[in-house]
Amino acid sequence: MTARPLGDTSKIVTLLTPQRGVIRAVAKGARRPKGRLASGTVAYRVIEALIYQKEGRELGHLSEAHVLWSAPRIGGNWRLFLIAGTLSETVLAVTEEGGYNLLRTSVELLDGGIEPRLVMLFFFKGLLKAQGLWPDFTGCVVCDGDLSGGAMLDTPDGRVLCSRHRRVGYLPINAGGVRLINEVERRSVLKGRHADGALESALKACLCLAKYHFDLRLRSDKLLAGAEHLLERAEGGKG
Ligand SMILES: [Zn+2]
Repeated sequence: MTARPLGDTSKIVTLLTPQRGVIRAVAKGARRPKGRLASGTVAYRVIEALIYQKEGRELGHLSEAHVLWSAPRIGGNWRLFLIAGTLSETVLAVTEEGGYNLLRTSVELLDGGIEPRLVMLFFFKGLLKAQGLWPDFTGCVVCDGDLSGGAMLDTPDGRVLCSRHRRVGYLPINAGGVRLINEVERRSVLKGRHADGALESALKACLCLAKYHFDLRLRSDKLLAGAEHLLERAEGGKG
């Protein structure tokens, strides 16, 4: 669930549901701190909701919202909050049907302290797979050669090749990146520590595919890059 303000005291909430896709509704009085709907209309919480919707109307009316899970860590961390925003935006832009489980699992992993770049990798791989757009990263598409030493991604054609078939414009992925891409769903990989180089290489390839196929222009993606840059400068200034 995500929310934006409406007037002084209300909100418009966007709920991604397991069976009914996306539902948008007005939550009257939800911005009053002690309002009945205040805690149930905070972004990224999982809620049980009662919504009245008139036939033919796009916006429903949220009358009850009980919090089932509150994403405690995401609520208190701007970086995680922006990443959760990027994932939600993507699901809403790409697939309203069937995105619930992937988004919920990803947000839970993010809140559970899993490295955010791994969560993004997990999420974008899942999304591309669900749309039938995930290339085979286990062998070179031309010679079936082993990719454990690294690979080249041909984004427009959705092909993965070994370094012998390198062409200008292909994106190189390092050995650690290929391993992460292939194994990111494993619990031991999600909970493990990984080299920055591998994480960055794997994520870059996944984002490259996602942006190409879905024509994504992510607001929080840009915000994240901008804010990350400022944070680095602030930390550099301190040291
Ligand atoms: Zn090859």
